[in-house]
Amino acid sequence: MSQNGRMEPEIPGEIGTGTASTHASDGAPQVNEQPLSFPIWQVADYAYDSAEHYADVINERRDGQIYGRYGGPTVERLASVLAALEGAEAGWVFSSGMGAIHAVLMAVAGHGDRIVSARTLYGGTYGLFTEGCERVGIEVTFADCTEAEKVAASIEGSKAVFVETIANPTFEIADIEGVGHAARDAGVPLIVDNTVATPALFRPIDQRATLVVHSTSKYVGGHHDLMGGVVLGPADLIDATRHLAVRYGTTASAFESWLALRGVATLALRMSKHSENAMMVAELLESSEEVRRVIYPGLPTHPQHDRALKLLSGFGGMIAADFGSQAKAWRFMDSCRIARVGSSFGGVRTELTHPATTSHRQFSQQDRDAAGITDGLVRVSVGIEDAIDLTRDFEAALEKLAEDGS
Ligand code: PLP
Repeated sequence: MSQNGRMEPEIPGEIGTGTASTHASDGAPQVNEQPLSFPIWQVADYAYDSAEHYADVINERRDGQIYGRYGGPTVERLASVLAALEGAEAGWVFSSGMGAIHAVLMAVAGHGDRIVSARTLYGGTYGLFTEGCERVGIEVTFADCTEAEKVAASIEGSKAVFVETIANPTFEIADIEGVGHAARDAGVPLIVDNTVATPALFRPIDQRATLVVHSTSKYVGGHHDLMGGVVLGPADLIDATRHLAVRYGTTASAFESWLALRGVATLALRMSKHSENAMMVAELLESSEEVRRVIYPGLPTHPQHDRALKLLSGFGGMIAADFGSQAKAWRFMDSCRIARVGSSFGGVRTELTHPATTSHRQFSQQDRDAAGITDGLVRVSVGIEDAIDLTRDFEAALEKLAEDGS
């Protein structure tokens, strides 16, 4: 070991420059001080003392690092940080939210099984639960999860129930407590996608959920620059999802895990500003004659406003506004200058999406109607810009709509 803690290669005799340079960055520095940011452990493979040593590690007879697809210190740190924030026993992180949802689905169900899913959910998840599940022989029953009585009858005999806390894109709030009870009575795990709420506003495991998933590409990361997902829950089920991540090659990368860790540091602060700005935008949109309906958990007109008051410690940054037609919705979106037409949500900048033609295009017309994803619906992910600038931007776009007429 050298002075800086670097392992010296134990190679006998003289070595050439080629060999010396190839081995120059072996090992890692060890410092006595506690780093105030977690380092990126950008390492894919490792060297072992002996053949037996590596065989013992990969066969789990001895603790140790294996290979990048099996994780690494930065990846494992993100998993344990998110598990702690959600009050879960364990967690595993994935290269995307869809990677996480796919793994959790495969961990609980297989060919010939059936699961129950909320009827309103992200279009990519809907695609996995329709076309994706059909390919592998898993049946999915879609149900209204805002009232536990409406799902209870479908739960018996299923392998899992899947809901989004605040459902994308109509932001209805699932009856997590009631559905959780029904699922427990039937001995079925409740899986909650908590992407829109985040643990800063709500912790599903405290309300009887078994497993929690997130797209960390959204609020956890929060800066429009990373892709990631996580599954959190009991250690045995997390072991099963980790095993699938290794098998399918969907474990998160060290760099994106590091970005997500950095995002976590400001999550609570950002959620509070997102919620404050969103309340203001929701009230502004609701007061306009150009908008037919505004759906935001903080508004008394939201169908589950009382539940939101009871369950959430903030109303979040997501709003749905119905302009009555696709043409009017698109005109509004194209008129905004600070808010931009965007592909995602949950970042620091305000983004506008037209779910019917983009994020939820996978829905059949019948399922879209049942979920209330109308042609005039615009999804607003309210960012953390100055409130006054967002107000001016939305007011100008609404005025333009009024001038153009419908
Ligand atoms: N869950 C929700 C609620 C989402 O909105 C999304 C994506 O928009 C996902 C999961 C999938 O996440 P990712 O895009 O990271 O795969």
